Amino acid sequence: MATYKALTEENCKDFKNFKYSEFKCKCKGKYCKGYPVPFSYQLASHLQKIRDNFKKPVIITSPLRCKQHNKNSGGTSNSPHMKGWAVDFYINGVSYDKLYSYVKKLPYYSYAYRVKKNQNVIHYSITPPSEIQVVSTVKRDEFKNQLKVLADELRVRTGASTNASIVGVAKKNCIYNYFETKKDSKYTWYRIADKQWVANNGKYLTVYSKTEGEDEKVIAELQKQVQELTDKNVLLEKTNQELQTQIKEKETNEYKSIYKCAEDGDYNIKIKMYKDEELYIK
Ligand SMILES: [Zn+2]
Ligand SMILES: [Zn+2]
Repeated sequence: MATYKALTEENCKDFKNFKYSEFKCKCKGKYCKGYPVPFSYQLASHLQKIRDNFKKPVIITSPLRCKQHNKNSGGTSNSPHMKGWAVDFYINGVSYDKLYSYVKKLPYYSYAYRVKKNQNVIHYSITPPSEIQVVSTVKRDEFKNQLKVLADELRVRTGASTNASIVGVAKKNCIYNYFETKKDSKYTWYRIADKQWVANNGKYLTVYSKTEGEDEKVIAELQKQVQELTDKNVLLEKTNQELQTQIKEKETNEYKSIYKCAEDGDYNIKIKMYKDEELYIK
């Protein structure tokens, strides 16, 4: 996997149709010295690819921007222009649509849009690979929607499409929570984090869906039981510690375990439980 690389005056010579000065902030030295942060080498290499593909000069209208210049140009406060990850450009005689369909297939594509109505200037930005990390793996938890990777290395992409940029890989046997699914003609996609999707063709993943209703049933039962305990004043004014002790003392003959808590948290059942704590009922 490629790593993030800064464009420098020296390595800019790799790109025969571009001068380093073309990537400079256009505030003309008013608010910065031209390169508040390095421009992405990766993005510069894509511009050279675009140049080679269309065989016409790429005219950059907005490359790097310092904070003030970005503000003055109406850029959003987190504009990728300020990171060197975006560029606005046009090519004489090439339509916006043609540029768009070309750039969106390039690696690490983030997004693109038409800068001004009826003009062919495109805003094109990437997310350089080392800047995103694949979300950490988690432990198996039957109360969550999870998946396990079966493939040796499964690509993680920024969107639910094979056109979306690759963020990294998910390794074999790793478990992830998932929060959203999407289907296309070939794959079912699973979102494991913000802008991180993996595809399944039926063989790449084992999917453990949390069974709808299963834990609701447990909670409903729990609620009923807790209500009964509350009615009998068993739970009133008891701290967890006390309750635990009380229950432990009696569990042998009078109480049976009905629920084991999987994770710390407030479960909206009028009782707080901690990991591995068990609720007993008479
Ligand atoms: Zn500037
Ligand atoms: Zn832009």
